[in-house]
Amino acid sequence: MRLVFILIGPPGSGKGTQADMLCEKFGFVSYSTGAIFRNEMARGTAIGQRITPLMDKGLFVPDDIVMEAVIGRIQKTRRNVILDGFPRTLVQAKLLERFFQLAPGRFLPVAIEIGLPMREVYRRVSGRMSCDKCGKVYHVKFRPPRLTQRCDKCRRPLKFRSDATRAVVKTRIKVYQKETWPIVKFFRQRPIFKFFSVKGAQSIAAVSASIIKIVKKIT
Ligand SMILES: [Zn+2]
Repeated sequence: MRLVFILIGPPGSGKGTQADMLCEKFGFVSYSTGAIFRNEMARGTAIGQRITPLMDKGLFVPDDIVMEAVIGRIQKTRRNVILDGFPRTLVQAKLLERFFQLAPGRFLPVAIEIGLPMREVYRRVSGRMSCDKCGKVYHVKFRPPRLTQRCDKCRRPLKFRSDATRAVVKTRIKVYQKETWPIVKFFRQRPIFKFFSVKGAQSIAAVSASIIKIVKKIT
C-alpha cells in the first residue's frame, strides 16, 4: 500500500520543510496544487487548458478540477506521496475520502496536523523572504540564508514576501482557521484516515523527529 501523507498546518508551521525532509529521508514525492497546476499548464493538458484562463484572471480553480489534477498525480506515481496545501476545503477533503474509498487496499492516507499557537504564527510569518527563481523560502530569524539576502542555491537576491504585512497575515490566519479547522476535525473523525497531531512550536529537528516516529510506526 502506498502512503499518502496530508500535512496540515498554519502558515509558518514548517510544512514545506518537513515535506522536504520526508522526501529526502524516505523517498516521498511532494505535490502542491500550485506545482501540479503549473505542470499541467506547461504540458498543455486538458486540465491545463481549463486552468490557464482562471489562473490568468486570478480566480479560484473549482474543486472538481483541483481533485482531478491531484488524483491524476497520485495515481501516476509509484512512490509514497505528500500532499502539500491540499485539501484546502472541506469539500476537497470529502472528495479525497471518496477517492480512497473507491480504491480500497491501494493507499494508506495519513493526516498529520502540525499545530502552532497563533501568536507564534504571526512571529514566524512576518520576516519571510523567498527566491524568485527557485521558490525557496527563508526567514530573517528562523531560516536565514548563508549570504545576506541571497538564495543559497541560485545566489539571487531574495525578496521579502509581500504577503507578510500584519493585516494580510491576520486575514490569512482567519481564513486558515475558518477553512482548516473543519478539515482537521474531519480527518480526526473519519476512520479511513490515520490521524496524528504534532507540536509545531519546537525546533525543526524536533518536529522532524516526531514525524519520523509516525512514519516508522505505520510502515
Ligand atoms: Zn533560489
